[in-house]
Amino acid sequence: MRLRPWRTAVMERIDTDVLVIGGGSTGTGVARDAAMRGFRTVLVEKRDLTHGTTGRYHGLLHSGGRYVVKDPVSAKECIAENLILRRIIPQVIEDTGGFFVITPWDDPEYGDRFRDACTACAVPCEEISVSEALRREPRLNPQARRVFVVPDGAADSFLATHATAESAREHGADIRTYHEVTEILRRDDTVGGARARDCVRDEEVVIEAAVTVNASGAWAGQIGRLAGCEVNVIPGKGVMIAMSHRLTNTVLNRCKLPADGDILVPIRTVCVIGTTDRHVPDPERYGIEDWEVALLMEEGDKLVPGLSAARVLHAWAGVRPLYSETAASETRDVSRTYTLLDHESRDGIRGFVTITGGKWTTFRQMAEVTVDAVCRKLGVQRPCRTHEERVTPGREGRLFTPGTPLRAVESEHTTGDLICECELVPSERVEAAIASGAVTLDDVRRDSRLGMGPCQGGFCTYRAAGLLQERRQPAVRETNLALRDFLQERWKGLRPILWGQQLQQARLDELIYLGIMNADHLDTGDRTSPLTDFYYYQDTPQSAGPARAG
Ligand SMILES: Cc1cc2nc3c(=O)[nH]c(=O)nc-3n(C[C@H](O)[C@H](O)[C@H](O)COP(=O)(O)OP(=O)(O)OC[C@H]3O[C@@H](n4cnc5c(N)ncnc54)[C@H](O)[C@@H]3O)c2cc1C
Repeated sequence: MRLRPWRTAVMERIDTDVLVIGGGSTGTGVARDAAMRGFRTVLVEKRDLTHGTTGRYHGLLHSGGRYVVKDPVSAKECIAENLILRRIIPQVIEDTGGFFVITPWDDPEYGDRFRDACTACAVPCEEISVSEALRREPRLNPQARRVFVVPDGAADSFLATHATAESAREHGADIRTYHEVTEILRRDDTVGGARARDCVRDEEVVIEAAVTVNASGAWAGQIGRLAGCEVNVIPGKGVMIAMSHRLTNTVLNRCKLPADGDILVPIRTVCVIGTTDRHVPDPERYGIEDWEVALLMEEGDKLVPGLSAARVLHAWAGVRPLYSETAASETRDVSRTYTLLDHESRDGIRGFVTITGGKWTTFRQMAEVTVDAVCRKLGVQRPCRTHEERVTPGREGRLFTPGTPLRAVESEHTTGDLICECELVPSERVEAAIASGAVTLDDVRRDSRLGMGPCQGGFCTYRAAGLLQERRQPAVRETNLALRDFLQERWKGLRPILWGQQLQQARLDELIYLGIMNADHLDTGDRTSPLTDFYYYQDTPQSAGPARAG
């Protein structure tokens, strides 16, 4: 983070009980919980909601099975929250179930350890025969030796976070995206809020708060430093690759200690193989390298033979906010449990707490313990209700199924009105995202899944740009810039996997945008947008140029 002295005048001052820094799953969870307990709450996020790790994760609602042997505390947290999330926010969760599979490459002895550890952690686990597993999942490796069934699921973190933020707003919270914290207000040994830059209006906002919550994920160390304390967050990068359709309907995990490329998650119309785990010095700058792509394909083939020959859609990476009091040499060795730091007892700094680590699956519990700490600091007793109250009480309480989006399109007769056919996004949803303050087309994507299907934006980017122009009426060069930035964003995820059918698709998209629309020469006033994605996938000697996984 760059610190610079402020020269602009303060345009706005806000006084609140709780200031939350970070608009990922954790921060929005904290904002909702605090607002539900009657605290005046403000959340600031430097870009769009889910722009951090929450929008770059694997999509697994953990049963806890992955951690039962190595990290039982995390496993217990996961299974407890798995059951709660299915109740309070069912529309974002698909009940895929999960298999833990011992393949010929895995230690057969691990199966008994795994089953016993599941029992010890209260993770429901049933062993089924390999033939039964193959009946349920015909593409599973027929050489599998043992298969255990657990209650894993798939979850849409974009929808979940937006719904949580909306609920927080309904309870009175002020959710401010594109507000970047640049200074923590500290007088003597007390933190009293933060100074933020409204990146859209280019104005300064001062938020004075009784308690400031650092929920900035992999950036928690940076925010800690602004407050004058050391928060040792170790950014652990993980790469994931989406295959263009669901090869299985069940989450497949290798039954062994967590390692690279050992989980396949079916989510909506695709399935995602992941991940890797490498320490990176900066949560915003890292590369996707050829060896990572090749490794994921190779490991994927062990679960589903032939996976690497299927059409590959998109690669991306996210950074885990791993917390350790001491330096750890291997990111895989750091526990996946969450940590709440009360900086008063730890560092002698009042009015400031950090919540970090954990999983998407445990965000609600992380929020609960954080707001419990806020209550203690403010000397009040207000019980948490987030485990009981649905996030969207008015909606049907049904779990997501792959048929849900098509059913909605058919019942609302919006077939002729689709902007993105791959993800079944009607114009109404794109317009709603624009109206609710999306700044870039990538924000619209996070809100609606625009451009996330097989064509990767080929047929929907120009339509969405047209709607943006129609609704907002900005100068044409602004829309040109939005279109170009969005194509650039999609391109980042295509570069590492350009072979086979997706290469053909990328070539078609190139012809549409560069050949027909001349997109690289559109008038943008020679600018690049300061508001688009700051994630920079570096070119490394290994990753420059198209890759072909072996
Ligand atoms: C590769 C990978 C795969 C994963 N898979 C799974 C999975 O399948 N299931 C699961 O349960 N968990 C998974 N996780 C873990 C999970 O994604 C994270 O634990 C969770 O999303 C973290 O959420 P967060 O809100 O704490 O952080 P983030 O989502 O990163 O939110 C922090 C926010 O703070 C903002 N911020 C930073 N600095 C500032 C500032 N100065 N001012 C204002 N805002 C700021 C950032 O922009 C960011 O949006 C995975 C993680 C990774 C990396």
